[in-house]
Amino acid sequence: MRIKTVIERTVKVESNVRNARVDLSQMTVTVLAVITDQTVSGRPLAGFAFNSFGRYACSGPLRERFIPRLLAAEPKSLLDQAGNLDPPRIIAELLTREKSGGHAERSMSLGTLELALWDIVAKREGKPLFQVLAARDGNPLPVSGTIPTYAAGGFYGASDDVAGLRDEVTSWRDSGFIDAKIKAGAGDVSFDQRRIETALRVLTPQARLAVDLSCAFDGRGAADFARAVKPYGLWWLEEPCDPLDFEGFGMASTVGTRIAAGENLFAAREFDNFLRYTNLESDIVLQPDPPLAYGVSGMREIVAVARAHDLGPQTIFPHGGNMMSLHVAAGLGLAGVEAYPGQFGIFGGFSNEVEIRDGQASLPSAPGLGFEEQPALYRLFSELTENA
Ligand code: MG
Repeated sequence: MRIKTVIERTVKVESNVRNARVDLSQMTVTVLAVITDQTVSGRPLAGFAFNSFGRYACSGPLRERFIPRLLAAEPKSLLDQAGNLDPPRIIAELLTREKSGGHAERSMSLGTLELALWDIVAKREGKPLFQVLAARDGNPLPVSGTIPTYAAGGFYGASDDVAGLRDEVTSWRDSGFIDAKIKAGAGDVSFDQRRIETALRVLTPQARLAVDLSCAFDGRGAADFARAVKPYGLWWLEEPCDPLDFEGFGMASTVGTRIAAGENLFAAREFDNFLRYTNLESDIVLQPDPPLAYGVSGMREIVAVARAHDLGPQTIFPHGGNMMSLHVAAGLGLAGVEAYPGQFGIFGGFSNEVEIRDGQASLPSAPGLGFEEQPALYRLFSELTENA
């Protein structure tokens, strides 16, 4: 097998919402297709991925460094003993001219490329990616054929934030979700309290509600907010502070509510530092985003770091709400997967195969990542391959 070409393109994400700090109306994403000289069922064997969302497209390093290096490599050096692509080996090869540190500058480009390579690996084996990962890493498959999921959203930006939020959370509950997460931290705490109370009234009694603070506070502000919402018994407080404000996270954790973090950390070393220096006094949920953090290779390293800090894979709830997060969560035995019903246009949500019921997402059967079963998104990937 040989990689013939890699096509990438920057695409605008349809979004008019905002969190506590960021207006997402200008958001872009990199979509990518890796095309091989093989065919499967009469179609070219190709792998697809995009760089999740929330951090803009990452085309520069792909176009200028990583795609040229990949295409210049000796084809046999990219394969495993079975003649399939070897993504961890390929990523290691592409990193040979890169200095240490500065992960965010390249982790998204390489993570996106790496997931497209895994899409090819699994399609060549004729299996969904989560099965391939579970088999290779010796992880048991979920016997239920499902993994836990929760609905995330509740952004600011509707003309009537509280009524809009009530409708949104109601639609989550009615479409099979149980647990949920809404945005908070944008301003007046009493307004957030009203939003939290609205969501809790709509959700079922057994539901857990988390809030995402999108790095809104310093340590003192985070602790004040945590105290103000403590009576609600929230599932977790997500990113109360800047991702590198370890002291601030520590202060927020003194209130005792579980803390979540990690969608803005990009490599295992950054997770290690976070866990080493935050001095958390509460439980923690880690939320790496697979394409943003060196793909499956990076996620395996993050799981190893978590274990070294006596945290099992069940403390990891990957960010993203897409097929990449779903396969990695199921294949690596993680806690579950975030979902973004109705957000981020064609990039939000899972494929048509994935059903949500009783707070669980069913696992898909299409080979690879299964974007082929996500029609609007697949049309975009098809355009890339048609012009190859
Ligand atoms: Mg978040």
